[in-house]
Amino acid sequence: MKLPPVAERLGRNRFIINEGNPHIVVNQAVAKATGTAERIIAVCPAHVYSLAEDGTVSVEFAACLECGTCFEVASEGALSWVYPEGGFGVQFRDG
Ligand code: SF4
Repeated sequence: MKLPPVAERLGRNRFIINEGNPHIVVNQAVAKATGTAERIIAVCPAHVYSLAEDGTVSVEFAACLECGTCFEVASEGALSWVYPEGGFGVQFRDG
């Protein structure tokens, strides 16, 4: 059986957004000083992170797939990452 493209499969997911209560917070100074900014931008499969014009890291936490990869590559103190509060976050719809 041939599976649909990954982008199409990910598009089936549902995201319940906890507006005003992000589960990801970047410490901009530490992220910049330690190279965490570049690493988290590079590894996130959902493109949650991007570099803003002012050099800070923007975070679109609503698109997070909760894989934890960014937390693994971040230097200590650069990133606060927890699972979204119960009832919020991604709901996987593939399979
Ligand atoms: S947990 Fe995964 S999907 Fe979410 S921001 Fe980190 S790397 Fe991206």
